[in-house]
Amino acid sequence: MPMTVDFKKRLYPGLPDIARHFGTPFHIYDETGIRKTASTVKEAFAGFAGFKEFFAVKALPNPAILSIFFDEGFGFDCSSVPELILVRKTGAIKEDILFTSNNTSADEFKEAFGHGGSLINIDDISLIQKLPGIPDPVSFRYNPGPLRTGNAIIGNPVEAKYGVSHDQIVDAYKKMLDLGSRRFGLHTMLASNELDHSYLIETARMLLDLAGRLSEKLSIRFEFINIGGGMGIPYHPGDKALDLSAMVDGIRAAFLKFYDKQGYEPNLFMESGRYMTGPHGVLVTRVINRKETYRNYVGVDASMSALMRPGIYGAYHHIDIYGKSVSDVPAETVDVVGALCENIDKFAIQRNLPKVQINDLLIIHDTGAHGHAMGFNYNGRLRPKELMLKKDGTVELIRREETVEDYFATLNFEKDVFKP
Ligand SMILES: *Cc1c(COP(=O)(O)O)cnc(C)c1O
Repeated sequence: MPMTVDFKKRLYPGLPDIARHFGTPFHIYDETGIRKTASTVKEAFAGFAGFKEFFAVKALPNPAILSIFFDEGFGFDCSSVPELILVRKTGAIKEDILFTSNNTSADEFKEAFGHGGSLINIDDISLIQKLPGIPDPVSFRYNPGPLRTGNAIIGNPVEAKYGVSHDQIVDAYKKMLDLGSRRFGLHTMLASNELDHSYLIETARMLLDLAGRLSEKLSIRFEFINIGGGMGIPYHPGDKALDLSAMVDGIRAAFLKFYDKQGYEPNLFMESGRYMTGPHGVLVTRVINRKETYRNYVGVDASMSALMRPGIYGAYHHIDIYGKSVSDVPAETVDVVGALCENIDKFAIQRNLPKVQINDLLIIHDTGAHGHAMGFNYNGRLRPKELMLKKDGTVELIRREETVEDYFATLNFEKDVFKP
């Protein structure tokens, strides 16, 4: 989507100076916008007795951003040891932290149990034997298989590697009950970038139905249900934004129905990443080359090491050319490309843009989630810096760019030879 008008107003007047001061390329995140979305989500779910959002750390794992969410009262959803260490550094402990891993190792569980512990969400029955203790509360990730069809990014649940199957779910809770767990939650994550609120309501209904059946079968209560992440954002100008209030109303109605039947209501947890930060970040990059062959190419100083989504998902990210619009500059159709020796290294394909010149600044929208974090170093391409546009209007470096020394860091090691 075109960036919000407010973010543009905050960023654009100073952008050329910011670019000169820090050098391009960089991702820049908008503290004001992030806090505003955090408040909007909290207010939208205020009618629930116990609502908590656990920000999905993998979307934007920068300590400066995590501190904002911690300050807003959010928890964190982690799935690896480095992510656990990262969120504990912000001050998060115990039930502020949700550990939702898959294909988990015993060492990872050990870390999740250590330092005061965390909420443990288990991906499979076979993992119970890897637990270093009895988690209480405990939740399982449920995979409904053929009972639901998935969405585009996550795919069909039957083919998804995640979660406990429908036939195993009763047994999973029974095992934990027998082992001594007394507090229970239920989790699923079926959608990604879902713009249809009814899909997410359906997910809440599905979990509540299942929680009801498990409660009756095993005489247990559910302290929470966790509907996962997956709330979408409108990347394309033609996309319709998710109707948050309709989603909340639908989920509320499902909770009331559950209350009527069961006489209590669980807390509602969510672990959104994209919705919280996606629209509040942009990648700013400068044009360094133009090339006219079978197509017209605009070469920029960022590569897919800074933003993988167009290359790996064919995802659309809207692009502005600083100071130019098609209403006052003739348009042309171009591919906007990075420097990797891979033809998928394109930020836009056959895009209609105002005619671009060398040194123009491009603003690639909606890179605040699954952007910088997904980057890699293939072809010796290094990841760019991250900046934050703070509430007071100042701009702060919150991660420096990678250097050649970083690239070579893993080649500094003690000689180690095994002789059979
Ligand atoms: C990636 C992920 C999320 C966040 O997904 P978004 O689409 O960014 O909201 C939440 N939970 C789990 C388990 C995930 O893997």
